Amino acid sequence: MTRYVILGTGVAAIAAAESIRRVDATSPIAFISEDPHGYYSRPGLAYMLTGEVDEKQLFSYRPDDFKKLNAHFYRAEVTRILPGEKIIEATPNLRIPYDRLLVAVGAQAVRLKATGCQLAGVVKLDHMEDARSILAQAKHSRAAVVVGGGITALELAEGLSARHVKVHLLIRNERYWPNVLDEAESHIIETRLAEDGIQIHFQSELAEILGKNGKVAGVRLESGAQIRCDMVAYAIGVAPRIQLAKDSGIACERGVLTNEKMETNLPDIFAAGDIAQVFDPQTGRATIDSLWTPAREQGRIAGANMAGGVETYIKAVPFNVTRLGGLTTTIIGSVGTGRESDMVGIARGDSETWRQIPDAIITQSGFEVNRLRLMIGEKHILGAIVMGDQKLSSPLETIIREKVDILPIRARLLEKNAPLADILVHFWAGIAG
Ligand SMILES: Cc1cc2nc3c(=O)[nH]c(=O)nc-3n(C[C@H](O)[C@H](O)[C@H](O)COP(=O)(O)OP(=O)(O)OC[C@H]3O[C@@H](n4cnc5c(N)ncnc54)[C@H](O)[C@@H]3O)c2cc1C
Repeated sequence: MTRYVILGTGVAAIAAAESIRRVDATSPIAFISEDPHGYYSRPGLAYMLTGEVDEKQLFSYRPDDFKKLNAHFYRAEVTRILPGEKIIEATPNLRIPYDRLLVAVGAQAVRLKATGCQLAGVVKLDHMEDARSILAQAKHSRAAVVVGGGITALELAEGLSARHVKVHLLIRNERYWPNVLDEAESHIIETRLAEDGIQIHFQSELAEILGKNGKVAGVRLESGAQIRCDMVAYAIGVAPRIQLAKDSGIACERGVLTNEKMETNLPDIFAAGDIAQVFDPQTGRATIDSLWTPAREQGRIAGANMAGGVETYIKAVPFNVTRLGGLTTTIIGSVGTGRESDMVGIARGDSETWRQIPDAIITQSGFEVNRLRLMIGEKHILGAIVMGDQKLSSPLETIIREKVDILPIRARLLEKNAPLADILVHFWAGIAG
């Protein structure tokens, strides 16, 4: 018998327990998590804000699924890991022994430090309680200022706008997400946001949140300009929750350091998910993903190895599906500005063939904006951004992941005004048979 203890009840934690149960049906598994809501889809919080899904739909795990795990759930805050004695301490007054431990306590939103950040009406979107609080406040809100340049900030802006709150989005740069999107792509997103009534303030930084009677009354920007609002929503990054691990002697940098087997530096202690900074033998670097699918895969590997297996985590080609300004956008592999020496960034718009691609690989259709950008290397496609119609996302993911030799089509792809999607569709048909 092995006593398994798992800290957290997020996707990494659940995936680990499922993995353990595949090979060990009887040993005790104990989850310890402070989260009153347990396991739910955190990415789904954005859709809960817009009203596209209701809260219940974020809980995909059914009583039967929990039953299969045959685990004990403690709702408690873990305060100490004692690796020498192999004990977990948690409030209130819990001491739980382990033989194998998984630390999967995730990451949390970086807190805003501006003057006025304690005022009522300042919100973030990190977990279920945040989403509930935003929805409750939005009912009485007239105007909100959203701070942050990434996807979560945009989700906040769109969520509030869907709730009929006038939204002002502050962006530091001269355009939206310049380190990932090119000018045309940024422009598409900005135009769509404007159509939804979201007002973007470019090259704007928050200086201070202004208050009245303990509540948000507006913001002052670095430029001196003021915007009246009754809510300030921010999303300025996430940070792995490493303090607990650090205090216990587990090696950390930005996250908890693990090898490819998800083992930390201490015996019988593993880490997975948003907290883990995992060694990648392909690059020789340890990286943090902060994404759902890698968290699940890392949890799966950690669980298998906790139960005596020997599995390694291989970092997949990044494949992120997101929605920007209501437009489904998939970012695959290496993208960016295309300045790297062997990368060429090319972008094209709509195409007939793209629309006619066989049903088998259709994931979505019916968008009025379709755009494709490829990052082309010497022999391979290194990255792609697919905006709108998503039929090419899946083939492109395979072409990038499998490092398919594109020499037969490379010159054509690079021709001026080449029908990119058509070329890819025919090339893919040849590969997929
Ligand atoms: C609004 C939002 C949108 C997102 N959108 C996307 C998206 O579109 N695509 C994508 O891939 N990813 C997205 N993510 C990220 C994704 O949700 C995370 O990568 C994933 O949930 C990480 O899972 P995890 O199991 O590592 O940690 P978590 O889900 O963070 O779970 C960790 C758990 O540990 C608990 N815990 C922490 N400290 C303690 C302690 N001391 N004691 C006890 N329990 C503790 C926490 O309460 C939490 O329940 C989004 C996240 C958010 C918040």
